[in-house]
Amino acid sequence: MARYRGPVCKLCRADGVKLMLKGKKCFSAKCPINRRNYPPGQHGQRRAGKQSDYGIQLREKQKAKRIYGVLERQFRRYYFEASRMRGITGVNLFHLLERRLDNVIFRLGFANSRTQARQIIRHNHILVDGKRVNIPSYLVKMGQLVQVKEKSRELPSVLEAMQLRRSMGGYAWFERDDETCSGKLLRLPTIDEIALPVREQLIVELYSK
Ligand code: SF4
Repeated sequence: MARYRGPVCKLCRADGVKLMLKGKKCFSAKCPINRRNYPPGQHGQRRAGKQSDYGIQLREKQKAKRIYGVLERQFRRYYFEASRMRGITGVNLFHLLERRLDNVIFRLGFANSRTQARQIIRHNHILVDGKRVNIPSYLVKMGQLVQVKEKSRELPSVLEAMQLRRSMGGYAWFERDDETCSGKLLRLPTIDEIALPVREQLIVELYSK
């Protein structure tokens, strides 16, 4: 599957939920979901037919992939890794996705979206425990220090994202220091804390067929 390069707001409208793919716009009144909450296209406003169980499960998986910006093969790999871990597979899956470095940068508020976080990481602006890491899928361990490089702290995108996060508040499972543009993963969040419009159980059902 190739990476989707079209208008991302259409993906939210197709799923009927905010997938938060666009950064600052997602938090504003300009979000198209607020104004046109129906699928895009000529027949978008027609009443949708009843979806099969498979269709519903597939939609849940697509939503999770789009939110975290992960392609099918990698997502499937996360699923199999989650199924081999102790505990509930669906929860393990989201814990793996939440530990991705691009997600951590987004949650810490150093980027306005996971896409922007990926770009910051690829452009070598991020250090983990003092070492440069430019792989967005890098899995952050608890207690590791994730930091924006000193020279990169004045980047307009970083400053804007931090200002927005400050006004919204942080996440309880992270420790964040605005002075040093750094943060740590203190613990893994619960599914309720992750608070995404995705039912993880349906993804597990889809893959375990
Ligand atoms: Fe677009 Fe963000 Fe709104 Fe989704 S949540 S429709 S990506 S602005």
